[in-house]
Amino acid sequence: MNEYRNQDALVLFSGGQDSTTCLYWAKQQFRNTYALCFTYGQRHSQEVENARRIAEMAEIPFRILEANIISHLAPNSLTDITMTMDKEKPADSYPNTFVPGRNLLFLTFAATLAYAQGIRHLVTGVSEADYSGYPDCRDTFIRAANTTLNLAMDKQFVIHTPLMWRNKKQVWQLADELGVFEIVKNETLTCYNGILADGCGHCPACLLRNKGLEEYLAERGK
Ligand code: ZN
Repeated sequence: MNEYRNQDALVLFSGGQDSTTCLYWAKQQFRNTYALCFTYGQRHSQEVENARRIAEMAEIPFRILEANIISHLAPNSLTDITMTMDKEKPADSYPNTFVPGRNLLFLTFAATLAYAQGIRHLVTGVSEADYSGYPDCRDTFIRAANTTLNLAMDKQFVIHTPLMWRNKKQVWQLADELGVFEIVKNETLTCYNGILADGCGHCPACLLRNKGLEEYLAERGK
């Protein structure tokens, strides 16, 4: 059916809409799929427990890696409750939800684990289509990181980004095609205020997620 049926993949997994869709995508593509969840002092610890719950539902082995060091190095509003979260991107910089270097570090840790376990494929839910302007969600960064990891470890990793060119509406569509629309809709946690599923409805993550959902449902016809 596909070229990866006899190979394994490691998914960078947070339990949100995007990475959950990626988890099920990988489950369909690969022989064995593994989930790796990073903790870095997120405001809502239930994010990690929810990720664990979804992985259990999907029957995917789940592993947590502590990466709190990143928040010690760079204060950001995802981890520092004294900071007010930027709702929009400031004109001359990134919103304070941006954690500089995060995806590069996470990919490096993931590749290190994958190397040790003989896994060649890494899957991450970054997207350039509806992204918040983060530089480490861009396709050029992922390609560069892939090359760097291959050179650093003398391996031929393949970083898969199934959502790279999908907007949020199209991410909902992919979940539907994978047969997990209801799971993604009801079990994932995307909201910056830590509210499951449809979320608080007014934080930036909820606005993006719910707009895409409305567009997808309008297109699907129900
Ligand atoms: Zn919200």
